[in-house]
Amino acid sequence: MSRRKVAILGATGSIGQSTIDLIAAAPDRFEVIALTGANNVAQLAHDARRLKARFAAVADEKLLPALRAALDGSGIANGAGASALAEAATGEAEWVMAAIVGCAGLEPVMAAIAAGKTVALANKEALVTAGALMIDAAQRSNATILPVDSEHNAIFQCLAGQDEKRVARLILTASGGPFRTRTAAEMDRATPAEAVAHPNWSMGAKISVDSATMMNKGLELIEAHYLFGLPSARLDVLVHPQSIVHSLVEYEDGSVLAQLGPSDMRVPIAHTLAWPERMTTAVPRLDLVRAGRLDFEAPDPVRFPALRLARQALEAGGAAPAVLNAANEIAVAAFLDHAIHFGDIARFVERALQTMDEPAPATIADVIALDRRTRDRARADLERRAA
Ligand code: NAD
Ligand code: MG
Repeated sequence: MSRRKVAILGATGSIGQSTIDLIAAAPDRFEVIALTGANNVAQLAHDARRLKARFAAVADEKLLPALRAALDGSGIANGAGASALAEAATGEAEWVMAAIVGCAGLEPVMAAIAAGKTVALANKEALVTAGALMIDAAQRSNATILPVDSEHNAIFQCLAGQDEKRVARLILTASGGPFRTRTAAEMDRATPAEAVAHPNWSMGAKISVDSATMMNKGLELIEAHYLFGLPSARLDVLVHPQSIVHSLVEYEDGSVLAQLGPSDMRVPIAHTLAWPERMTTAVPRLDLVRAGRLDFEAPDPVRFPALRLARQALEAGGAAPAVLNAANEIAVAAFLDHAIHFGDIARFVERALQTMDEPAPATIADVIALDRRTRDRARADLERRAA
């Protein structure tokens, strides 16, 4: 069997490293073509060497000399900046992991899609900001988008072999994050350290804060809408603190299919890596006897306004999802910088949505310009409030 040629965009992050862990354990199945990172040159060069990658690219152009030095004598080609990321996404790899965080990942993802790759999509922000354009582009180029996000991967698995026209509802589970049982007042002053301490999953800082506000679940509703083509009214959120049931699909006859597994992103990543086959992993197995119970509750729209805002953006369509995402990215960064309180994140996003006056983006260039304008406006809003 020939080895699957892979590229990992965002190789130095949490999802990137989990992907590398799986690939390093199966050298007979995978051949690493390209790895990219934003600025952690030491990690990038280390992984490129041990996986015998052909190409390594760093997003920050100023770091190219450091990357060259770190790869010296390895024979691994290197590059920096947007064109190098696009090269990693469109080169010889057949399977591309899109694991850059934020709208920054949009251009390389679109490049991989235009090149007809099989794209394992972790970078939900790209889909939230440019969903319809991305799905259209994939149809045109015959690219395959495989969802990595655990909920969407679960739904994808529960839809396999079924008639999608018979789906009544998709139910996304949510852990509820670290503040599931906190009062609104307690949450308002929560620190970044408390917000990133997720009870079940180990993830990058941005998505950890999104889980604490539940904006993550809101972004995932929008992600589900584009991936599976269902309207908001047929997308539900169910809080499930154990993160064992990763999501569910209800069919018109009343049957509900669920996918279960350990809370370890290597499981959905492995599903996309081997798809349409399966591969073995060293992930500790789910032990339901030890877990003992599965609890479910409705999400609280009062303590978690981000969920309501994302739902509104999904229903409004047009520019709203991209504005929601850009304002959230700026607000989360400001919160991690101790510039705003936890409770301000949703208030800030709400203001951005209320004051926006933007046409629906018609091209990827429009989406990128809209994202930049919204970020600039959001930063100015932050500065005004700080002054
Ligand atoms: P992370 O912060 O750990 O890693 C992000 C990666 O993107 C790093 O390799 C970083 O170098 C790179 N990057 C950051 N900014 C960049 C830029 N401007 N240009 C180019 N590269 C840049 O994040 P993560 O937790 O691995 O999440 C990655 C994506 O996967 C996010 O969209 C997240 O929502 C999604 N996701 C993550 C998890 C998880 O468990 N971590 C689960 C589901 C979905
Ligand atoms: Mg998820």
